[in-house]
Amino acid sequence: MKSIIRITMTLVLAALAAGPAAADLKVATSLTDLASVARFVGGTHVTAQSLCRGYEDPHFVPAKPSLMKAIQHADVFVSTGLELDGGWLPLVLPGSRNPKIQPGAKGFVDASQGVQVLEKPTGTVSRAEGDIHPLGNPHYYLDPKALEVVADHLADVFSKLDPANAADYAANAKKFDEKMDASLENWEKQLAPYKGTGVVPYHKNLVYFIDRFGLQEFGNVEPKPGIPPTPRHIAELAEAMKGAGTRLVLYQPYYKADAASEVAKRAGGVAVEVATEVGGLPGTDDVFSKFDVLVSSVAGALSGSAGGSK
Ligand SMILES: [Zn+2]
Repeated sequence: MKSIIRITMTLVLAALAAGPAAADLKVATSLTDLASVARFVGGTHVTAQSLCRGYEDPHFVPAKPSLMKAIQHADVFVSTGLELDGGWLPLVLPGSRNPKIQPGAKGFVDASQGVQVLEKPTGTVSRAEGDIHPLGNPHYYLDPKALEVVADHLADVFSKLDPANAADYAANAKKFDEKMDASLENWEKQLAPYKGTGVVPYHKNLVYFIDRFGLQEFGNVEPKPGIPPTPRHIAELAEAMKGAGTRLVLYQPYYKADAASEVAKRAGGVAVEVATEVGGLPGTDDVFSKFDVLVSSVAGALSGSAGGSK
């Protein structure tokens, strides 16, 4: 009995001697990809969790009390920005009653800051038209280079909130950028044979990916971002694809597989389910494996008959 007490005491003392607890900053994010980048940059000093799961539609997350509770004690909140979380985050953040992470506070981060935004609208945007990308395309996390911008940004934020570990955050961000650059070279090689090939994403969430790898967006299964496809749109799109020889339709787990399959079937092509967010499909547990799986799915489908004529 005595020895058990002694062992317990020793363990407690050892834990105390180890200094502050392993994780110094509690980080919460809108999106799984941002939590993944936060983990790389934060290393052992940070824990990170995402409110949206990888297989959930990031535009429409139910603003449940459980989400508000989950960020009650967070030190940092990383929003995707560009209104991707604009429909639910403005309900969840105040609901958390956590002053540290409200917009304007030191612990609130808009991860889109510094990112080169594509499809920025030039005129006035009417939401009545169903446009859910009013500030430009918010799916920048489909560009590996944009995630480097996010990593550097997070390193700055973490350093300001936890100066004792600033050197680690800077070193981790540098390592992240180097690993991303090396991976990107490999992904570019895999997709190089398909430069200029048209693809049809369900939603307009692959524009950064398409732009980075030199593919073409031929059209979308949705007639407009956020608007479900009509039978007429499906028929017209499939007809146009057939004419152009475009045969690859890409859709996410949270979109209607039957609409995507219908378009592909009529066009004589294939519909492939892909994860655009970390955790969307098995084997996509961090931002690197997400791109590994996405790139090999697209390259694999295009290497079959799905590419059609270029
Ligand atoms: Zn979108």
